[in-house]
Amino acid sequence: MSPAKLQHPLFERVALIGIGLIGSSLSHAMRRRGIAGQIVGHARTTETRATALRLKLIDIAYTTAAEAAADADLVILCAPVGACGELAREIGPSVKPGAILTDVGSVKGAIVRDCGPHVPPGVHFIPGHPIAGTEQSGPEAGFATLFDGRWCLLTPVEGTEPSAIERLKAFWEACGSNVDLMTPEHHDMVLAITSHLPHLIAYNVVNTAAHLERVTDSEVIKFSAGGFRDFTRIAASDPTMWRDVFLNNREAVLEMLGRFSEDLTMLQRAIRFGDGDTLFKLFTDARAIRRGVLQAGQDTPAPDFGRHAGDSKTGE
Ligand code: NAP
Repeated sequence: MSPAKLQHPLFERVALIGIGLIGSSLSHAMRRRGIAGQIVGHARTTETRATALRLKLIDIAYTTAAEAAADADLVILCAPVGACGELAREIGPSVKPGAILTDVGSVKGAIVRDCGPHVPPGVHFIPGHPIAGTEQSGPEAGFATLFDGRWCLLTPVEGTEPSAIERLKAFWEACGSNVDLMTPEHHDMVLAITSHLPHLIAYNVVNTAAHLERVTDSEVIKFSAGGFRDFTRIAASDPTMWRDVFLNNREAVLEMLGRFSEDLTMLQRAIRFGDGDTLFKLFTDARAIRRGVLQAGQDTPAPDFGRHAGDSKTGE
């Protein structure tokens, strides 16, 4: 059953700049509850703008980001992280005073660095990141329940008006999310280990398998057991988005990668020297983390990660 409609929209006019998986899911979530009086948008290509209109994701499509942002009470950048600075520069002069400007990018320090300087006085700039996603992309990939029960992290810069943060928090809660606040630096460190490093490892495992000489590609695909299959799903994520994540969260990812390599070397030694106790302890500790994730409601205990139940949500 759909959650009840709000009595009044939280924002009269919301502008989505970028209408892919996240932008379209936001539109569905807003329509579900009546969160926005009107949803307008801009995407780079005519094709995406036409699809967004056809699917009624937006009421009006604009060919420029600046036109879409003008007159909006809430402007949400839903484009790859590497494109957001230029978009902020373009829309800056047209965002009206009192409006909230936010984003959904997977890296936050770089968003503050690249967008912050283009935010005019009187506009509330509050970077954000919904920890929810799938490996699909584009305007047809979105769905209303994507954010349900998932966290959205807001990383306001110092001096941001508390009432604006409260309004954006209420927006994400109405979209189904739980909301937490942290600094951009802390966000980037946490996400480096929980999301960015796992994606890097998945890309690398799939790449290594593809280059094996004594196992053919068709065997890798035909006999793909659970572990590899799950890596291929993660590695199917959008290359532009992930290129931008690694280019823009370099320090934190390299820090986590260093720690990961040390731990991997320890595992390698345990295997080489037949140290079963070390392996058993490590695997037991890891199992406890999985139980914690389930208890926190961040995944399903169903076999095969509930894939057969049609839930392919991940925490990107
Ligand atoms: P997506 O499905 O690939 O959609 C990206 C959208 O941005 C498209 O509408 C694209 O337009 C538009 N775009 C790209 N470059 C642009 C530019 N220079 N100017 C204007 N529009 C541009 O991507 P997504 O998965 O929704 O990701 C969007 C953001 O959400 C990223 O910053 C990502 O880090 C973040 N995020 C993603 C996930 C996830 O799991 N996917 C989860 C949380 C956060 P065209 O279609 O016309 O090219």
